[in-house]
Amino acid sequence: MTTALYTHPDCLDHVTPAGHPEQVARLKYIEAALRDVSGLDRRDAPDCDDDDILLCHPSDYLDMLTAAAPTSGWRSLDGDTHMSPGTLRAARRAVGANVAAVDAVMSGEVDNAFVACRPPGHHAEQSTPMGFCLFGNLAIAAKHALERHGLSRVTIVDFDVHHGNGTQALLWNERRIQFFSSHQSPLWPGSGHPNETGGHNNIWNYPLEPHSGGQEMRQVYEAEIFPAIDRYQPELILVSAGFDAHAVDPLANLNWQTDDFAWLTERICDLASVHCGGRLVSTLEGGYDLRALADSVAAHVTILMERSA
Ligand SMILES: [Zn+2]
Repeated sequence: MTTALYTHPDCLDHVTPAGHPEQVARLKYIEAALRDVSGLDRRDAPDCDDDDILLCHPSDYLDMLTAAAPTSGWRSLDGDTHMSPGTLRAARRAVGANVAAVDAVMSGEVDNAFVACRPPGHHAEQSTPMGFCLFGNLAIAAKHALERHGLSRVTIVDFDVHHGNGTQALLWNERRIQFFSSHQSPLWPGSGHPNETGGHNNIWNYPLEPHSGGQEMRQVYEAEIFPAIDRYQPELILVSAGFDAHAVDPLANLNWQTDDFAWLTERICDLASVHCGGRLVSTLEGGYDLRALADSVAAHVTILMERSA
């Protein structure tokens, strides 16, 4: 069996202003790191259906973004989030790839999948682009798993260093999804307090102290998050894989090493094996030191492949 890798050249056409950390080079470094990895089932990220976007966003939001797309230069949606002429196409492929990855894993075509697309998604709220994100890529994929595949228990683990405020907002009242976010606090966007628990106690937030490292992260996951996933017995596990908790990342202050991402990947794969036949889809969120990002993604995908063998 196999690990699928979804990406698309269109995701290189989402161009951000000079000096922006969420840059085209992120995907180029990841591609270089995975280029010589044999055995990956490499798939083009498809365009999405509007209906998938509408699982999480209102139609006037899609209309707004479509109208906002510039024909040259940039259109700034907020201080951090910008559209170039290729952005909407890239963002639609990021949604399409996550949905296709869920379909491939649910049908048994592949065991698990990694989506290397950009822009990322976990900060986008219902009608608000935010934090480099336009659409809630993984939240949409999770809703797709419920609506199109009839699942009733989906777990999302978001280990990006920033709180997954968008995923939280999009799934706040979704009792069929269990959402975990571990994140540095204090840090932008400032949300993610443990008392934010969702409409059905389906949201679980775990702030991590600035300058804490892999040991502290492992303790939180072992003591709190993994037992909660075990109790929930998910039918599918989705991962918001941000690699900006790495010690050298320029946007945050946690001290995780590449080995910590590998450990976390292994343990999440263990849970997928126990509860849902290994069914897991992981999607790229943040990670802004290009070398550390590439190394961490390579470690992450290598473990996905080992677990699908
Ligand atoms: Zn992040």
